[in-house]
Amino acid sequence: MKTSIIGYPRIGSLRELKFASEKYFRNEITADSLLATAKNIRLENWTVQNSNGIDFIPSNDFSFYDNMLDTAVLLNAVPERYKALDLSALDTYFAMARGYQGKSGDVKALAMKKWFNTNYHYMVPEIDDNTEIKLTGKKPFDEFLEAQKNGIKTKPVIIGAFTFLKLARFTGNKTATDFVDSVSAAYCEYLEIFNALGAEWAEFDEPFLVTDLSAEDISLFVSLYKKILSTKGNVKILLQTYFGDVRDCFNEICGLDFDGIGVDFVEGKKSLELVTENGFPKNKMLFAGVVNGKNIWRNHYGKTLITVSELKKHCGEIVLNTSCSLLHVPYTLKNESKLPDSVKKHFAYAEEKLSELAELKKILSSEQSLETAEYIANSALCSEPRSGLNEAVREKVAALSEKDFVRLPEFAEREKIQKKRFDLPLLPTTTIGSFPQTSEVRANRAAFRKGEISEAQYEDFNKKQIADCVALQEKIGLDVLVHGEFERNDMVEYFGECLDGYIFTEKAWVQSYGTRCVKPPVVWGDISRAKPMTVKWSKYAQSLTDKPMKGMLTGPVTILNWSFPREDISLKESAFQIALAIREEVLDLEENGISIIQVDEAALREKLPLRKSDWKSDYLDWAIPAFRLVHSGVKPETQIHTHMCYSEFADIIKEIDDMDADVITFEASRSDLTILDVLKENNFRTEVGPGVYDIHSPRVPTVDEIKSALHKMLDRIPKEKLWVNPDCGLKTRGNAETIPSLENLVRAADEVRNEIK
Ligand code: GLN
Ligand code: ZN
Repeated sequence: MKTSIIGYPRIGSLRELKFASEKYFRNEITADSLLATAKNIRLENWTVQNSNGIDFIPSNDFSFYDNMLDTAVLLNAVPERYKALDLSALDTYFAMARGYQGKSGDVKALAMKKWFNTNYHYMVPEIDDNTEIKLTGKKPFDEFLEAQKNGIKTKPVIIGAFTFLKLARFTGNKTATDFVDSVSAAYCEYLEIFNALGAEWAEFDEPFLVTDLSAEDISLFVSLYKKILSTKGNVKILLQTYFGDVRDCFNEICGLDFDGIGVDFVEGKKSLELVTENGFPKNKMLFAGVVNGKNIWRNHYGKTLITVSELKKHCGEIVLNTSCSLLHVPYTLKNESKLPDSVKKHFAYAEEKLSELAELKKILSSEQSLETAEYIANSALCSEPRSGLNEAVREKVAALSEKDFVRLPEFAEREKIQKKRFDLPLLPTTTIGSFPQTSEVRANRAAFRKGEISEAQYEDFNKKQIADCVALQEKIGLDVLVHGEFERNDMVEYFGECLDGYIFTEKAWVQSYGTRCVKPPVVWGDISRAKPMTVKWSKYAQSLTDKPMKGMLTGPVTILNWSFPREDISLKESAFQIALAIREEVLDLEENGISIIQVDEAALREKLPLRKSDWKSDYLDWAIPAFRLVHSGVKPETQIHTHMCYSEFADIIKEIDDMDADVITFEASRSDLTILDVLKENNFRTEVGPGVYDIHSPRVPTVDEIKSALHKMLDRIPKEKLWVNPDCGLKTRGNAETIPSLENLVRAADEVRNEIK
């Protein structure tokens, strides 16, 4: 039995790539120096996989920013506006990723979207009628050769033609089917080159296959692969799927000339059933995704063995695989110096998952699987009782009834009461919460954590930041202010630290987009509020101004979605536990004079199941109530805001309205106008602040640009319901671009206000 992985994290075990890239962006290091850092990371990754005896080691899973962007560049899907900048290949690539504003021109970044149901984001390839798809780059070949030079034979991986076309945005009249010939020709050439280079296997990642597919989708897939597979030559082809099961196309993919098929047995609810009921072609290898690539708990070998032995009855050769790329878990437990062993022994990060694969291989290859030392140790570990359970919390959740989820009076009445109370101008301006986390802010926090300064010193510094931030907002002329979130590193980590039941890691970074990483906390036990979390900061900030100061919390669904969740209780149970804790904080803020409270549900959309049939039963039926539970106890005159990153909630628009917030802000600056149309068509009740500029890019929006965005919004949203704000928090930005951007925002709002009065 062999082992394989789909991809490895590439930001560097100590985030070396992040730091080098950011230095490069600031012109502090040369391109060569950045390339050298990247090369080291690749070598380290291959070496650790090799030393764990992984049989199928991927190459081309490395990326400077994102693999979808890499694929677009490889296929020459580079929009003219980036080519026209006439930059180096590397800088053109970064211009597509981050936008560019400088001597050579001014262009926005490509759109960015969540990668299926993960917190990773990909760059959306843009294809217009003139795009000439052809193989132009060398990255996959170079990386294959680079590994080979180091004595490591790899399996090159690339996003498959189908997923690429399904996720691309077509800006002209042509659609995916118009590109079947050129795209398949490019992938054919790709395979010809790998034939010449002597690759034994090539992997095509097709996660789009686990979504609801139409008949046209399936025929698109089949027509692409009939062509591509005709040139495979001596290279064996692995079709890799993940994040779910392939129920819509199982027979079609089994009928094509693939040499291996990768199936996800962790998230794929029907994967096992598909194989046992339909059988699996004996001449193909089944790459069985049995080690969870998304969570950090140790694999339960007993359960895995049951799955594999069932599969063995129906399949030929089985390869032990991860369920998806290990990109979604942190690097290695070796960097966790502070966690006690009693905790660490329950965790497996990327490196430990490699050894799990190795152990499983050993166990499964043994005649006496259940008597191997590895198996015995694992079953002992998995049967240990868990610490951190809290009966009182469970009882509270069990006692919840219908009325705990309903806020009264109903929306329209509250809206009137609040308009009167706040007396804000039309098109009120605000921000999403965080202000730039400057190096001083981070240094202050680091100094406090290391014990170099006292708590009082730490707090004084933050108070000074808050005071400056409030003064700045007043000077700019914003209407509803924020305290700036200087006390927070990452929003979820911050709340997790104030909640009992959470565990924190030290270096468990996971890439979110580009150079941005998050360090998800771990839901270890039952959750409750250990202490007030934000009250003192909000109260202090409000004391500095007569304008309303928004309290700033993160919602239960987002906290849960951005944590590593437990696997021994349901997500619903965990979400309600967290909701009760946040509810206490909301009421505490209200009692302390905070009149507007924002409860971010940045990640609500992100975990929507990939298949529509699962939306309600697996998710919305608990996610929306969890949010309502947080705010149902506040007074009518307290205004509840929420914020969601991404506006791709057109198809759950009713549920979003049903969260029953008073105001929602969301990202709209990088997406098309459809969401605004959808708001209009559905008579969206909640007041809205669709972001008027993109904070993921350092460029400063002009007043005219913002005004034109507002005009488009006003065509579709009643002026009484429209708010003006950036599309997300500002913490990743610098003051240099933030201040002029906000000044332009306020000016634009002001000018439009005068036009519509
Ligand atoms: N209030 C948070 C902030 O401004 C929201 C962040 C987010 O939506 N990701 O940073
Ligand atoms: Zn956001």
